Amino acid sequence: MGSMSESPLDRVWKEYGREFASLDDLTLARWMAQSLGQLQGRVWRMSHPLIGLYRLLGQMGHDRGVWLKRLAAMPAQYSEAACCRAPLLPLFTRDILESGLICQHCGETAVAFEDLPDEVKSSAKAWAEEYAPIHEVAHWEESQRKRCANYDDEFEQAARGIERLLARASKELMPLFMESYPTMVWEDHDECLEVRPEDIEL
Ligand SMILES: [Zn+2]
Repeated sequence: MGSMSESPLDRVWKEYGREFASLDDLTLARWMAQSLGQLQGRVWRMSHPLIGLYRLLGQMGHDRGVWLKRLAAMPAQYSEAACCRAPLLPLFTRDILESGLICQHCGETAVAFEDLPDEVKSSAKAWAEEYAPIHEVAHWEESQRKRCANYDDEFEQAARGIERLLARASKELMPLFMESYPTMVWEDHDECLEVRPEDIEL
């Protein structure tokens, strides 16, 4: 999926990751368990530094199979993710219909859209269907671009629309998900429309 592809920022995070490479498995497991406890009960922006750090170390833990070694107890509120058996820390993205909720440990689908609680499915679907055509403006072909009076204006307008939709995801959709999951992370950017976390006001 597009939003998970490697960006220059991802490469910087990999560089940070090398600084933690010497952590032993037990220390890493305890750190993750403790951090999950601290993250619990809240909705987080994907760009939040704590989430960035958790994802970095969480992926390292996944690569080393730390959760499978049962070195630290999983905080009780978290269930086990079906994808990789790490605690379920779901990321909500604009690809919710196709990719479901994404695991912060292995990067795969942790909960498919069909398996989401019924209460959130219809709201998430309506949101995603509103999002898709606006996002699509970034991917218009030359011929489509020429059909509007000023494509730059069209692009700007689409970006503003996406900022509002992402804010709505945080304020309206996330509370619905929080009824089923102890912690939620939402993708607070849209790189195709150049929407950055700081553009989204909550
Ligand atoms: Zn996983």
